Amino acid sequence: MHPIHHPTHNGAPITEDVAARLAAQTVGPVLLPGNEGYDVECASYNLAIPQQPAIVVGAVNAADVQAAVRFAAEQGLPVAVLATGHSALPSAGALLITTRRMDAVDIDAEARTARIEAGVRWQQVVDAAAKHGLAPLNGAAPTVGAVSYTLGGGLSPIGRTFGFAADHVHLIELVTADGELRTVTATNEPELFWALRGGKGNFGVVTALEFALFPVSQIYGGGLFFPGEQAAEVLKAWGRWTAGVPDELTSSVALLQLPPVPEVPEPLRGRLVAHVRIAYLGTAEEGERLIAPLRAVAPTLIDSVTEMPYTAVGSIHADPPTPIPFVDRSALLREFTPELVDTIIAEAGPGTGSPLTVLEIRHLGGAFDRRPEPTNAIDLRDAAFTFYAVAIGGPDQAAAFQDYLTHLIQALQPWSTGRRFINLMGASDANAEGVAAAYPPETYERLAAIKRSYDPTNTFRVNHNITPA
Ligand SMILES: Cc1cc2nc3c(=O)[nH]c(=O)nc-3n(C[C@H](O)[C@H](O)[C@H](O)COP(=O)(O)OP(=O)(O)OC[C@H]3O[C@@H](n4cnc5c(N)ncnc54)[C@H](O)[C@@H]3O)c2cc1C
Repeated sequence: MHPIHHPTHNGAPITEDVAARLAAQTVGPVLLPGNEGYDVECASYNLAIPQQPAIVVGAVNAADVQAAVRFAAEQGLPVAVLATGHSALPSAGALLITTRRMDAVDIDAEARTARIEAGVRWQQVVDAAAKHGLAPLNGAAPTVGAVSYTLGGGLSPIGRTFGFAADHVHLIELVTADGELRTVTATNEPELFWALRGGKGNFGVVTALEFALFPVSQIYGGGLFFPGEQAAEVLKAWGRWTAGVPDELTSSVALLQLPPVPEVPEPLRGRLVAHVRIAYLGTAEEGERLIAPLRAVAPTLIDSVTEMPYTAVGSIHADPPTPIPFVDRSALLREFTPELVDTIIAEAGPGTGSPLTVLEIRHLGGAFDRRPEPTNAIDLRDAAFTFYAVAIGGPDQAAAFQDYLTHLIQALQPWSTGRRFINLMGASDANAEGVAAAYPPETYERLAAIKRSYDPTNTFRVNHNITPA
């Protein structure tokens, strides 16, 4: 490959004439700040992270992405990518490529694979695969973008059975910093293939992905909602219970502070609840037997655990589908002990005035601990649980949220591995130090060396950035 040396962009706004040169090469729109449609084009899920790029390109196909990346190189602009904005970072001064128009999903039922384009959201894949009795390793939220989720590992509500979504990728189409469209597989550019599966958006713009599907059409799943006053008992019981569950059972527990709005069912409205989320790939009878100890902890406010079609998997976590402003932070936990539960309850339990809307612990282990073949850049085997906390609110609350979250993450230190799962790493941890600490040192060094080969001038830096070695 031939690395290109970028001129440094002088920070001056891009003129209409210069933008028109790019627009002449793309099928999709090219917009500057102030142009009609610019704000809609830049719309993103996390309203707390403003998207005000120097120029935005609504890519329709891989050729549009290539033209945009080459133009950015010419102009000395960093390249940012926006699919849905569930994990977007500020794109001021960048060329932003939006991928929502690239939304094709093709299922090969015989080969049990899906090929998806860059802008596809998970529910589209779930629905298309379900027509053939198949399922992807989608995320908890149906509206999350499938490509970025997979590049960041991909922790699925059925992941303990099959492993990370990134473990099952066969092929990646990618536009690198030199504007080339590459087909990356285990045999064709194996180092890049290793790095892309876990190194997220650092190596280029992915235009399409191909991955395995699994023969899952029904699950026994849903949620057990307990009053917040019972949170300590519920969390402790769930922690003990996870030690004995089979790999076919994936679960998580959350403290949710639900808003007093009509969309929230009456028994949960406006209150703190403990929410156990279950997805079991087995019979309802066996599932019932497995979760009986959780049902016995306390009377539930709502018990929605039942047999369901896989297409309803998004209802298990029931994450908010519409854009919200939020601040999030995360950690990886070695263990989930009663002492840790006491710390969580003291910081975020009933009566603490915690500003969190969601505090979530997911059970890892099972197939998450197996090394895939070929290996990839995701390795969380020293962690047994993920921890993720979200505070919802506008810019006036952001500083208070950050202070609270910094204190909370500090309080978890005795149980933390010190690393992070890249997909759940909030924007505030997405600095050079934070991203380097997310990976084991040897993994980060290998990623940084591959970054240097493919993106030596760090064109792709509006992300959870790996600094070129
Ligand atoms: C409500 C919610 C639920 C979630 N649930 C889960 C879950 O169950 N499991 C899990 O693993 N994660 C989960 N996540 C995290 C999620 O996987 C990441 O936030 C993911 O990056 C979102 O991708 P996106 O395309 O939706 O977001 P975007 O903000 O559009 O993309 C995030 C970043 O990915 C990069 N990117 C996007 N598209 C491309 C591309 N085509 N090529 C290269 N880089 C690209 C860019 O750097 C971009 O900034 C959740 C997040 C939220 C907010």
